[in-house]
Amino acid sequence: MSTRYWCESAWIDGAVARGVLLSADDTGTLTAVETGIDTAPSDAEAVPGFVMPGAVNAHSHAFHRMLRGRTHGDGGTFWTWREVMYSVAAKLDPETYETVARAVFAEMLAGGYTSVGEFHYVHHAQDGTPYGTERPRGDASDDAGLRAHAMERALARAAASAGIRIRLLDTCYLTGGIDAELSAEQSRFGDGTIDGYMDRHAGLIDTFADEFPVNAPGESFVHVGAAIHSIRAVPAANLQRFTELSGAVHVHLSEQPAENEASQAAYGATPTEVLARSGVVDDRLSAVHATHLSEQDIAILAGARSTIVMCPCTEADLADGIGPARELADAGAVISLGSDQHVVLDALRETQGLEAGERLRSGQRGRFSPAELITALTEGGARSLDLPVGSLEVGKACDFVALRTDSMRTMGSLDEQIILTASASDVHLTVSGGKVRVRDGVHTELGDIAELYAQAFAALEMEG
Ligand SMILES: [Zn+2]
Repeated sequence: MSTRYWCESAWIDGAVARGVLLSADDTGTLTAVETGIDTAPSDAEAVPGFVMPGAVNAHSHAFHRMLRGRTHGDGGTFWTWREVMYSVAAKLDPETYETVARAVFAEMLAGGYTSVGEFHYVHHAQDGTPYGTERPRGDASDDAGLRAHAMERALARAAASAGIRIRLLDTCYLTGGIDAELSAEQSRFGDGTIDGYMDRHAGLIDTFADEFPVNAPGESFVHVGAAIHSIRAVPAANLQRFTELSGAVHVHLSEQPAENEASQAAYGATPTEVLARSGVVDDRLSAVHATHLSEQDIAILAGARSTIVMCPCTEADLADGIGPARELADAGAVISLGSDQHVVLDALRETQGLEAGERLRSGQRGRFSPAELITALTEGGARSLDLPVGSLEVGKACDFVALRTDSMRTMGSLDEQIILTASASDVHLTVSGGKVRVRDGVHTELGDIAELYAQAFAALEMEG
């Protein structure tokens, strides 16, 4: 049995192709990609408009979505925004987080994303007690609440039920600042010591291997990775331990000048230099934000062929600044995109934000070509998360989104220039693992996405 989609036009091998027939097997993996087919075969769904590989959201904190539209009243800074964010984090438990994440992941699919890197640090119960320690091992009851890795399992279930591919970036968070204890509200993020983190991380890998085995590319929706929260939250002496891990490692890097100042004061080095000295700057590393970098930092990250995750909408929302994306790309770094705190979940707008920031800071147009923007959103993200996605080719997951080319926003756009004109409102079809997940803004299994949010706000006892 195969599933087939005939696309009016599609992004194949870095160019727009017409009449593209995609075939996927039962596992949701692409088995054929044929171009130049004039009409849809009778057994294929005809997909009008422009089809591109599903966007990869390389940086997400799912629960931050619940703050959207609630932090603009009094101005403030990144740091005052963080206080509000902590108050929402305090309300999360495995059950409520699954409800919240299901809604967020559904909105993500509607916004053009089919994969997500979930940078996850709310590991433990509110008082810092690890889940699974309240109840003897072997207890037969298996309600979501109290087993080990309960929060991580809740996120994974939410992703699998929505149909978004997740790399759960299990985050190490040990200190509340360089040489500072965790605050009370941060205690549920921490593992005490680097050994505590490494042990819990190994246990998580084992748990997920049982519960969410990785098989064929198309049918494997849950994957584990690692993250260093930041050099504020993991002591420099512990960073080298991340070289022991295989696969993707992510880190928040130089989002705020205050982080750079603290790093210079404690270590006499920039955050990038601190990471490099520990051996963790390599081609598996994704540096998130990378906003306030020195020329030397750019050379280090680009020389190692690290990936940079730019989050333009969040960086604008939090008044973080505009990072040197073009300079990083020119020097050899790979650029990808993330929505971070989800001020919007719109893969197009995020991409447009990258180019808009570049134009505003440089006074030049065309800093990233439309093709480069599509590549950042797809292949760049796939590399960041080490997932078999990002291009429509045989052997990769059948994950794609279709944009309307005849809407009031997009009509007249030439080929791939649609990446600079379309919005999430133009995403009319989202497919992952060969299955339609969202059609015309409605999730095919979960239904009305606004209703999912109504449930999420009710679960957290927040006014929706
Ligand atoms: Zn972040």
